[in-house]
Amino acid sequence: MRRIGLFGGTFNPIHLGHVQVVREVKAGFGLDEILIIPSALPPHKELNGVVDAKDRLEMIRLAFSDDPNFVISDVELERSGPSYTIDTVRHFKSILSENTELYLIVGLDAFLEIDTWKSYNDLFLLIPLIVMSRTINKENSTKSEWKSLKNYLQSKISKEYTFSFAQSSFNHDKKQPVCVFNVTPVDISSTTIRKRIKAGRSIKRLVPDIVEDFIKTKGLYL
Ligand code: ATP
Repeated sequence: MRRIGLFGGTFNPIHLGHVQVVREVKAGFGLDEILIIPSALPPHKELNGVVDAKDRLEMIRLAFSDDPNFVISDVELERSGPSYTIDTVRHFKSILSENTELYLIVGLDAFLEIDTWKSYNDLFLLIPLIVMSRTINKENSTKSEWKSLKNYLQSKISKEYTFSFAQSSFNHDKKQPVCVFNVTPVDISSTTIRKRIKAGRSIKRLVPDIVEDFIKTKGLYL
C-alpha cells in the first residue's frame, strides 16, 4: 500500500513553515510521497498580490528540489476556473491505483473554514484528513486549538465524530477520520513575507535561501 499526502495552498510564496510542517507530517504518518498542489485562483484569498502561477510553482520546485518524495502537481493550474479541493481529490482518486491511500493535509486555520469550501460534506466522505496545528492566536495553547477543532467539527460537520486518543483522530461510522497532528510551531505566513518585502525588510530564514534569491531576482511582491 502506498500512502500519499495531498497538500494544497496558494503558496504565495512557499515558506519555511510549509516546508517544515509538511516534512513532519510525512515522517509522522509514514507517508511515501507528498503532492504539493498550488491553487490557480484561490477562492478564499483576495486576488490582489497573488503572483503568477508559474512563479509560485517554480518557488515550490526550488524549495523541495532536494527531496524526490515531494512532487509538485500542476493539476489545479491546468484546470480552468478557480481551484476547488473536492475536484482535486476526485481527480487523484480516479487516477491513482486501488493500492494507494490518500490523505488530505491542511493547517488548522484552513480546516476551520472548511464549511465554506465547495461540496465540503463530500470531502469528509472521500478522504481522511490530517490537520496540522497552527498557532492562530499567540495566547492560545495547542490544547485549546484542538478544542476549537472539536467544537467546529461536531457543530458544522457531524456531532457523531468522537475522539480516539489511541489513534489521535476523530472517528465516525460513516465518514472518514480527521487526524490531528501537533507540529513544531512555526510562526511564519505568506502574508508576513509579502508585508516584509513591501516594507523593505529581510525575509532570511523565513523562506529557503534559494527561494529568497528567486524572489529578489524576479522582483516579486515589491
Ligand atoms: P497567507 O498568509 O497568504 O494566508 P499561508 O501562509 O497561510 O498564506 P497557504 O498557502 O494559504 O499559506 O497555506 C497552505 C496550507 O499550509 C494551509 O493548509 C495552511 O494552514 C498551512 N500552513 C501554512 N503555514 C503554516 C504554518 N506556519 N504552520 C502550519 N501550517 C501552515
